[in-house]
Amino acid sequence: MATDETARPVGVICPRCGGSEARPVAEARGGKGAFRKELGTRLQKSPEKSGDGCLHFIEGMVLTGMGAALAYTGVDQEKPLYLAGGVVLALICFFGTIAVVRGDRREKDAEEDGLAKADWLWEPAHYCYGCEGVFCPGGTPWLGVLDTDQFKKMVWTEAGYGDQLTDKSKNAEVPPGTLPWY
Ligand SMILES: [Zn+2]
Repeated sequence: MATDETARPVGVICPRCGGSEARPVAEARGGKGAFRKELGTRLQKSPEKSGDGCLHFIEGMVLTGMGAALAYTGVDQEKPLYLAGGVVLALICFFGTIAVVRGDRREKDAEEDGLAKADWLWEPAHYCYGCEGVFCPGGTPWLGVLDTDQFKKMVWTEAGYGDQLTDKSKNAEVPPGTLPWY
């Protein structure tokens, strides 16, 4: 029986089990059996961030606008309490928004720095379907075969968001010698 399997180029050989079914982790996350084995999560490169500076800015400006409207009502109807309250509310919202948006930006910058490092460790990594190990062909930039928990722990820790690990990878131990500086 001829299948297109024969036409496929030979994959990278796994150094642990000798299997040739290894695929880049990016491919394995969405490949065969990925859903059943939760590879999407187990090989995840970074936490999915929800913080959105732009959205925070819009929300803040809407609140600022409400404060301004209240102040305007105070002027219009000669109610000094509305005016004072509205001005205070508008100022709090305005400066609060600036602080939040700046915080978002700092977080984003740190995340971008981390992501570059995560990419470096993650992109060349291959997932072996034979033994469920993760390794880099040629041993660069890191050595050995890790299980997915160890792999995730290493990538997230090196990228600076290891504290955001929530699954059992949190307790994984990366063997010494995996990274040149370990
Ligand atoms: Zn293997």
